Amino acid sequence: MNDETVLGIDIGGTKLAAAIVNADGEVLTQDRIPTPVGNADQVFAALGELIEKVRGDATPAAVGIGSAGPLDQRHGLVSPVNIFGWRDFPLVDRVRALVDDVPVTLGVDGHCFALGEFWTGAGRGECNLLGIVVSTGVGAGIVTNGRPLLGQSGNAAHLGHIVVDLDGEPCACGSFGCVETYASGPRMVARAQRRGWRPGEAVDAAVLSADAALGDETALATFDDGAQALAAGIVATAVTVDLTTVVIGGGVAKAGPILFDPVQRWVKRLAQLPYVTDLSVRPAQLDNAGLIGAARLGLDSLR
Ligand SMILES: [Zn+2]
Repeated sequence: MNDETVLGIDIGGTKLAAAIVNADGEVLTQDRIPTPVGNADQVFAALGELIEKVRGDATPAAVGIGSAGPLDQRHGLVSPVNIFGWRDFPLVDRVRALVDDVPVTLGVDGHCFALGEFWTGAGRGECNLLGIVVSTGVGAGIVTNGRPLLGQSGNAAHLGHIVVDLDGEPCACGSFGCVETYASGPRMVARAQRRGWRPGEAVDAAVLSADAALGDETALATFDDGAQALAAGIVATAVTVDLTTVVIGGGVAKAGPILFDPVQRWVKRLAQLPYVTDLSVRPAQLDNAGLIGAARLGLDSLR
């Protein structure tokens, strides 16, 4: 075993996380902080402190950063929707200045999720994998032949914005009938409420899934619609890039069988071409897949 290490950084709207990870994917140190509210420099100062604390005496050979989008991979700029202080923020240059000019690689958080689950999680050993995060949106990433499929601008695998309903509702992206308009947590909650679902005090996807588990027919039907849209996006992707495995994580996936049973049923129904009939759909295993995948992105930049 070599003693090479990399620094992984995960930038999200609710938390910032960093870890030192070795070449086997083992986390040596990690920490996280709530994403601070402030101007560009204030947010970066907090990230810098986190990096220093996690790094300690380690000398990482590379850095990988996974960030909520949108981002400009070519120029190393990030504009995470929920970090208002960062608009076209030069994150790669700023981090590189902190880490002795080692290579710094930036990727979308969905790609890092897929890479993390591929490296040490539910997709270990599966070289052609789709990772999906179902949460307030629907993010995704693809690993093909053991490498992330990034695309020319780094934005490949936007599964949440595959159109699955030509008569569908408008989507935040400007299109309509996207997977996300059926399967994201907030959209499922809104759909269920329009159908007459009346939750108690809290109104979110966790309550909706709890009601579905109790047999509430509206909640079950709404999860089934979300699962059908997800399955359509999954199968469209699988027939396009030829996959064996799908790993699903994120807050809505915590619904467990309430989500996975109908997703698996719909995938089985829709995946008919011979090379996708054995497509395996399984829950994520890691609670820090984005962070692990960011580290892997850094490691891959050395190879
Ligand atoms: Zn869309």
